[in-house]
Amino acid sequence: MIKRKFKEISTWVNGEIVDQGFTNTEIAGVSTDTRTIREGNLYIPLVGENFNGHDFVSAAVENGASGALWQKNQPTPPADIPLIYVENTLLALQDLAQNYLASLPAKVIGITGSNGKTTTKDMVTSVLATTYKVQKTAGNYNNHIGLPLTILQLEEDTQMAVLEMGMSGRGEIELLSTIAKPDAAIITNIGESHLLDLGSREGISEAKFEITAGLQKNGALVIHGDEPLLTEKVVNSPFNVITFGSSNTNDYYPVKSEQKSNGTYFTLNGEDENEFFIPVLGKHNINNALSAIAIAQLFEVSIPNIQKGLDLIKITGMRTELIQGKGGVAVINDAYNASPTSMRAAIELLQDLKDYGKKIVVLGDMLELGDNEEVFHYEMGKGIDAEKISYVFTFGKLGRKIADGAKENFTENHVLAFDDKQVLIAKLKEVVEESDVVLVKGSRGMKLEEVVNALT
Ligand code: ATP
Ligand code: MG
Repeated sequence: MIKRKFKEISTWVNGEIVDQGFTNTEIAGVSTDTRTIREGNLYIPLVGENFNGHDFVSAAVENGASGALWQKNQPTPPADIPLIYVENTLLALQDLAQNYLASLPAKVIGITGSNGKTTTKDMVTSVLATTYKVQKTAGNYNNHIGLPLTILQLEEDTQMAVLEMGMSGRGEIELLSTIAKPDAAIITNIGESHLLDLGSREGISEAKFEITAGLQKNGALVIHGDEPLLTEKVVNSPFNVITFGSSNTNDYYPVKSEQKSNGTYFTLNGEDENEFFIPVLGKHNINNALSAIAIAQLFEVSIPNIQKGLDLIKITGMRTELIQGKGGVAVINDAYNASPTSMRAAIELLQDLKDYGKKIVVLGDMLELGDNEEVFHYEMGKGIDAEKISYVFTFGKLGRKIADGAKENFTENHVLAFDDKQVLIAKLKEVVEESDVVLVKGSRGMKLEEVVNALT
């Protein structure tokens, strides 16, 4: 956590200390929220759509803040509070994070991509933590505010900072990468999320590639090598490009892999004798693990430590989680989010699972897909293998399109579309029996964890 004097802070944010009596005021940590502020924090008031943090500066100081930033165009500040004037408090937060990180010895790993950022962040952290002191983005703090706040949490003696970089449009990853200046960057994959804002998969790929904007000279660029939109961009790249994926043209690919009920086993090219285990399911998670192995080897973590780190991974909740439900029914909880790539990956995973009775999917709307949203949903349904899956339940308006697509291959009474979640749950409970497995997946807004909760 940042601990500095007012004098140094004001230089870093290009500000002016209002009262020179406060030059040596010490701050410990930064907060933008008076409700969670801690003793000694620097309060940074942000101007949002609904709230103006400047209204709460006095409250921040009452709750323990050592001082605050103040945006010059805001009305007169309260007297007697240690303040630093800046042009813009959001930019100041970002400048502060950038300068603080530059003053630390930590190596920085930046992670972006359409899907799998948080999972990969957790895996990278787990393997590096066998050998180094590591800190990572908490939860999903991956945007223009969350990333600086994460950086300002770093300790002076942290050796590795693993940072998730998210976006909803062009220019955002460039900003995050410029703040963090990664030594290594991962692009997990290119999917279809944010198609609405970025127009095409090509546009999405360019937006993710912005992570190279701040990447150190000679930095490592670890990319999903099965994705032509990424590989075409690294021809003649000035970076140390490392690829991973299913294809044997990649630097890292799995040779043998097997899904069991407790997780996935695989071996790696060039490491035939060593087996790796991850306590999560799905081919997409092998890809995430491969990128973590690439990073670990880059920083010279030994194979036994990599194995140990992968074995111990703790994935932030609701991402392809296999749970034992009531009455011997297994539930794959993937209710955290959904895009066509991740939904397809989850369905494939279910199709590949062995040793279960009926396999049932409960699929909800995938939101924010733009003009072709109905086509995406219809194709998703059409792609479900009726030989391997017994029932398709759908929830929501777009979910209905999945059902329409599924009806091309399934008999009518094995495809059930619902608009009422309670009715869906009641029907599902009639259908499931001991040793069945149910996959639950939809966009965050669909709140399908309610279905998971009903089964567990
Ligand atoms: P967000 O944009 O919400 O932060 P994220 O990129 O951090 O998402 P995760 O939270 O790690 O992604 O995973 C979300 C879902 O994406 C998982 O539940 C899984 O279904 C899917 N997923 C994870 N990794 C991959 C991958 N490498 N390729 C495709 N799908 C993936
Ligand atoms: Mg995430």
